[in-house]
Amino acid sequence: MDKIIIKNLEIFCNHGVYKEENILGQKFLVSASLNLDTRKAGITDSLEISVNYASVCSFINDYMKAHTFKLLEAAAEHLILALFAHFDKLLAITLEIKKPWAPIGLPVDYVSVEISRKWHTAYIALGSNMGDKLGYLENAVSSIKNDVNCRLLKISDFIITEPYGPVEQDDFLNGCIMIQTLYNPNELLAFLQHLESDANRIREIHWGPRTLDLDILLYDDIILDSDDLIIPHPEMHKRDFVLKPLCQIAPNAVHPLYKLRIKDMTDNK
Ligand code: ADP
Ligand code: MG
Repeated sequence: MDKIIIKNLEIFCNHGVYKEENILGQKFLVSASLNLDTRKAGITDSLEISVNYASVCSFINDYMKAHTFKLLEAAAEHLILALFAHFDKLLAITLEIKKPWAPIGLPVDYVSVEISRKWHTAYIALGSNMGDKLGYLENAVSSIKNDVNCRLLKISDFIITEPYGPVEQDDFLNGCIMIQTLYNPNELLAFLQHLESDANRIREIHWGPRTLDLDILLYDDIILDSDDLIIPHPEMHKRDFVLKPLCQIAPNAVHPLYKLRIKDMTDNK
């Protein structure tokens, strides 16, 4: 992938575990490798459709000076999040923060922390069959949209579907969204479960009525099977109320286990 690289931007600022470091400050060197598609900018030779590295340097400089973190890990994590929020063409970032004068009492060139983060693509199924169903779904979508770790790309129609499974209950309202997210799969699940509990969801009866159900259907093309998270969602291929709205926004997305397009999974049911 194309990259813009910034090497050893020197910034005097105040990060560190010791109080003296926060007061006196010291030298830091920030390097960033910014992944983006430079092809159009390259062909047309116009800065507006690329990312201006002078702006990125000045953003990093201002951010590092405006905040004080104890850990390089925290400085890097927060700075990356701020860069993604500010420069929307960035697809992935690797960031290294070096601390040449780290107070460790031994001769060393520098210590540094390097982290890489990228936007992942995920599809989420939404469902509700209690109370203000539309309100619960719309609230969830707007909370996801407003989270700095997420970007809402597509939203399906919400469809009314009959309940599935052994429990007698009201009809559902179901839909799907496509997002980009900086969360890893477990963080995304925790975030969605937090939204479910904000919607007063109580986990009482398995497959029973719920104010809000948010399931991760696909996350990039990963295949994951852990105790509390399975991706692709293990029931998605059997559920019309998932496949129909998903097919509306991602007919050509491929299920990484069955190697089928969503539109073909929908037709073959
Ligand atoms: P369901 O969505 O199947 O009706 P719940 O919403 O009550 O059931 O979820 C039960 C558990 O399913 C959650 O506690 C969660 O840990 C687990 N789970 C496993 N894989 C996923 C996934 N892909 N998305 C959401 N939850 C999942
Ligand atoms: Mg669920």
